[in-house]
Amino acid sequence: MSYFQPEFVARSAAVRVRFGPGVRHAVAEEVGRLGARRALVLSTPQQAETALAVAEDLGDLAAGVYSRAAMHTPVQVTEEAEAHAHAIGADCLVAVGGGSTTGLGKAIAYRTDLPQVVVPTTYAGSEATAILGQTDGRAKTTLTDPRVQPEVILYDAELVAGLPVPLTVTSALNAIAHAAEGLYAQDRNPLSSVLAVEGMRAFAAALPTVIASPGDLPARGETLYGAWLCGTVLGQVGMALHHKLCHVLGGTFGLPHAETHAIILPHAIAFNETAVPDLLAPVAASFGGATAGAALHAFAQRCGAPAALRDLGLARTDLDRAAEVATTNPYWNPAPVTRDGIRHLLDAAWEGRAPDH
Ligand code: NAD
Repeated sequence: MSYFQPEFVARSAAVRVRFGPGVRHAVAEEVGRLGARRALVLSTPQQAETALAVAEDLGDLAAGVYSRAAMHTPVQVTEEAEAHAHAIGADCLVAVGGGSTTGLGKAIAYRTDLPQVVVPTTYAGSEATAILGQTDGRAKTTLTDPRVQPEVILYDAELVAGLPVPLTVTSALNAIAHAAEGLYAQDRNPLSSVLAVEGMRAFAAALPTVIASPGDLPARGETLYGAWLCGTVLGQVGMALHHKLCHVLGGTFGLPHAETHAIILPHAIAFNETAVPDLLAPVAASFGGATAGAALHAFAQRCGAPAALRDLGLARTDLDRAAEVATTNPYWNPAPVTRDGIRHLLDAAWEGRAPDH
C-alpha cells in the first residue's frame, strides 16, 4: 500500500529522542546538553520513588523533586508546582511518568518556557506533542503551543516494564487510537500515515508478548517504540470522532480516560470505516480482521480490555444526553455525525457488543 498524496503540508517538531533500556541514566548528560544546571523533577505521588531515583542520576543538576502531578492537569497543581520551580530557581523540567506528569511539565513550560526532558512510563504519547489539556474546576481546555513541546524524550523500556497489565492494555489502545484516527485526518500527510501504520504494527506484534510476560524488555521496547510513533502522529494531525466521544464521556460523565478510549475505539473506527474504508485498510491488516472495526474489537478483547461502557458506571439513560452533547459542535469527521448514528454507536459500546458496521 502506498501513502503517497498528490498534495500535502507536513511539519515536524525538533525533538531529540533517545531510546533504549537504561537510557534514563543519561538524564544528566541530556540536561547538560540543554545548558541547564538546576532541574526540577516531576512525578505523581505514586511514582515519587522513580522520580527520586532520576534525581539521584541527575546528581548536582537536580534542584528539587515535585511529586504531586495529578490526572487532567488541574491548574491549582500547576500554580503550586510553578511557584516551587521559581522558588528553587529551576532552569529545566524533567517529567518522569505518564500523560498526567508530562501534562504538568507542559503546563509549567507554557507559563515559563523552561525546557523539558520527558521520561515516559506509559504509552499515552503526550511527550511527542505540543498539545496541553488542563482543567480549571470541572472545565477541561486544550491548547497547542510550541512552548509546550518537550525538547528531549528518553524512552526507557525498563521504566515501562512495571506498568500493570490492565494499564498497559488501555494505554496501548489509547496510543493506537491516535494512529488509527491519524490515518483519516484531514491534515494527514504521507509521513504521519507511515508512522501510524508502523506504530500499530509494533503494538500488534509486541503487546500480546508484553501481556503474557510484562517484564520482557525487547517486547516492552517494541511497544514503547509504537508509543513514540503514535504520539508523533498525534503531534502532527487533528483527531476526530473517537476523541470527541471520549472527551464527552470523560468531561460530561466523568468516565475514566484510558478505559473509555479502549471501549470506544473499535466503534468509532467502524463508524468511520463506512466513509473511508480504503484509508482504514491498514488497521484491518495490522490487527488481522475483515474490517478495521472488527479487527480492533477482537484485538482489544484478546488483550483483556474493558468492553462495555455500562461497566464504567454509565447509566443507559445517559446515552441520549451523551449523543446530544457529542453531536453539538462536532469535530471534523470523515463520516457524517448524526444524533441517531451516534446514539446507535453508543448503544453497542454500552452493551459491549462488537461494532455493528
Ligand atoms: P497517567 O499519567 O494518569 O498515569 C496513571 C497512573 O499510573 C498514575 O498513578 C501513574 O503514576 C501510574 N503510572 C504511570 N506509569 C507507571 C508505571 N510504569 N508503573 C506503575 N505506575 C505507573 O496516565 P496516562 O494514560 O499516561 O495519561 C493520561 C493523561 O494524559 C490524560 O490526562 C490525557 O488527557 C493526557 N494525554 C495528553 C496528551 C497530549 O498530547 N496532551 C496525549 C495523551 C494523553
